[in-house]
Amino acid sequence: MEENKIPQATAKRLPLYYRHLNNLHQQGKQRVSSKELSEALKVDSATIRKDFSYFGELGRKGYGYDIQHLIYFFRKTLDQDEISRVALVGVGNLGTALLNYNFIKNNNTKIEIAFDTNDKVDTTIGGVRIYSVDDLEKELKRTGITVAILTVPMHAADEMTERLVNAGVEGILNFTPARLSVPDSVRVHHIDLSVELQSLIYFLKN
Ligand code: ATP
Repeated sequence: MEENKIPQATAKRLPLYYRHLNNLHQQGKQRVSSKELSEALKVDSATIRKDFSYFGELGRKGYGYDIQHLIYFFRKTLDQDEISRVALVGVGNLGTALLNYNFIKNNNTKIEIAFDTNDKVDTTIGGVRIYSVDDLEKELKRTGITVAILTVPMHAADEMTERLVNAGVEGILNFTPARLSVPDSVRVHHIDLSVELQSLIYFLKN
């Protein structure tokens, strides 16, 4: 199977298919037709058949698709795409909002694990489990996650960045106002919401 050749539009729909197929599987269903999927997912059935064709001959006419087979192939493809699994550090107001939002609607990105220091540890928000930062290195290693969203207070940003980098994180989406210093091999994207807002207002006034 040549997974690299899967078009991006197809790849983006995989998590949607995957989630729905897992639900069907849990309900004890074994087969599903493209028509049934189309109605449930609001994706037209020709698109679904085309998407599934990249995974080989998984369906038969009049029989439908074997749910377990699809789950198996989709899981393999999704697992390759490490960028889709993300950790979040700092479950304050912004971190909580991101956990609830969790990019469900638009693409195959998912916050899978979160870390904090306070009493939210061992609870879940938006279905995401919150671990103590004491377990950061251990849990990143276990999950193999290499992308992190940083929503800690500014004073904790440098220390947490260093720990993330030492734990093998390769990409950080920084929502703190801090300017992070990282090795060249690590990519940081900085989103400072208050600066963005202030600069918008500045341009409106000038
Ligand atoms: P926000 O800035 O997201 O609106 P907030 O004002 O609710 O958050 P902050 O003080 O910015 O709260 O802290 C954000 C979260 O980061 C809090 O839940 C806090 O417990 C957590 N936090 C603080 N230090 C660390 C740390 N070193 N590692 C992980 N989480 C931390």
